[in-house]
Amino acid sequence: MSHRQLYVNGAFTESASGKRIPVINPATEEPFAEVSQGGREDAKKAIAAASAAMPAWMKQTAHERAKVLKKAADLIRQRADQFAKDMTMEQGKPVAEAKMEVLQSADTFEWFAEEGKRVYGSVIPNSVPGKRHLTIKHPVGVVAAIGPWNFPMSLLCRKIAPALAAGCTVVAKPASQTPLSLLNIIQCLHDAELPAGCANAVIGPASEIGDEFMTNPHVKKVSFTGSTAVGKHLMRQAADSVKRLSLELGGHAPFIVFPDADPEVVAKAAVIAKFRNNGQVCISPSRFFVHKDIEKKFTEVAVAEAKTLKLGNGLDAGTQIGPMFEKKAMENTVGLIDDAKGKGAAVLTGGKRSDKFSKGYFFEPTILKGLTDSARVMTEEPFAPVMPILDFSKIDDVIAAANNTPYGLAAYVFTNDITVAFRMAEGLEAGMIGINDPVPVAVQCPFGGMKESGLGRELSREGLEAYLETKHVSFKLRD
Ligand code: NAP
Repeated sequence: MSHRQLYVNGAFTESASGKRIPVINPATEEPFAEVSQGGREDAKKAIAAASAAMPAWMKQTAHERAKVLKKAADLIRQRADQFAKDMTMEQGKPVAEAKMEVLQSADTFEWFAEEGKRVYGSVIPNSVPGKRHLTIKHPVGVVAAIGPWNFPMSLLCRKIAPALAAGCTVVAKPASQTPLSLLNIIQCLHDAELPAGCANAVIGPASEIGDEFMTNPHVKKVSFTGSTAVGKHLMRQAADSVKRLSLELGGHAPFIVFPDADPEVVAKAAVIAKFRNNGQVCISPSRFFVHKDIEKKFTEVAVAEAKTLKLGNGLDAGTQIGPMFEKKAMENTVGLIDDAKGKGAAVLTGGKRSDKFSKGYFFEPTILKGLTDSARVMTEEPFAPVMPILDFSKIDDVIAAANNTPYGLAAYVFTNDITVAFRMAEGLEAGMIGINDPVPVAVQCPFGGMKESGLGRELSREGLEAYLETKHVSFKLRD
């Protein structure tokens, strides 16, 4: 069984405790690798290394930093097949999807390497004679980056790449169960000759490592992707030292289909969008509002399509849906379905763990109808392969229903009417809105949520600004 170590101050290293964490394959329920288990001591060392590396790294020109980041991007691409396999084994998703995530991660490094060269200040016209004003940008300082398990590589790259491009140094912590994808990225940065201390990886209990991140005065910014509950906890902790925070939290995206859309085409797109990664996606559509005139046809097609999806080990050719990530996630899914059934919902397909496998967390893609507002699946982020279908007739009602949640991450609208599209784009409370687009994500476009879905934006120009402070420099010239 392979053993991987923490990465501190430019070297792969054993943890202070010497303990190890097994990495479990959700398709087999078996451990297949292990990693060193870090803790507070290791986090402290990593933060000290990042702090020591900061002055030299921020003094490098953006062009010099870009060379390292682009080399890392090339190495990620060269190693994509192996990295995708590792990701499938630790997380469960089909290997083709894993490879897409690896390649997107490489693109993220390349894009921010270039964008780092365009960190401009400004010259502001003076209002008082003899004064001159300009702004310059300054890296925020040591960044602690915390990522979740559902996209174990790309989501941490959205933090590490812009932070390094901005001249910050980083200590990253992956979800404890999916450490390999981060370590693979770190290996590429190491091989690209990133100076020691600029990027570090610690793996281990969130309570200890997270606490050190939030209380260590050398950490100036924490960038977190994960659940809203943990995000709120970090926000409380950040108050004590006014640490900068970026938060990418949960979602409960509405998927709204107007009567002028083709119900057959949209139902097929909906099934792909819903069941990708078993619905364990922050922007996964999770409440389907379909106009009453086309709801019957949409539902028929969606059910037929969901039944054809091929479940299996993500490493096997032809697998479209891998296992869910862990037993707890599957049990939570059963709980949501039972609750909905108890409140009158009907299960049109799926609704249970697949009985085709003796091992692995395989769950049948599930479609529900007849939901009431009180069903938990309508209010809690499901993070599960569950597709609740509802109908509507009036645009104002569907906007109100879609916004009736504390979340505001993504929303999807299907219509060919430009007026309807604009009304929806302006009326929906969501940070990302796909109009006839089930994947409204691109490295050059802002990604993030409104309301309790988060603070700040990743990717795009804004995702780089998140690692920069603005300094105003004011000159009084001699008379
Ligand atoms: P999670 O339980 O909040 O964990 C996310 C990360 O936070 C993990 O690395 C976890 O470490 C760590 N963590 C847990 N408790 C912590 C604490 N007290 N202090 C510091 N770190 C702590 O979330 P998850 O179950 O992994 O991920 C699913 C959630 O992420 C969903 O809500 C999903 O919507 C959200 N998400 C949001 C986005 C977005 O861009 N908005 C993207 C993807 C996922 P351990 O693994 O060691 O516990």
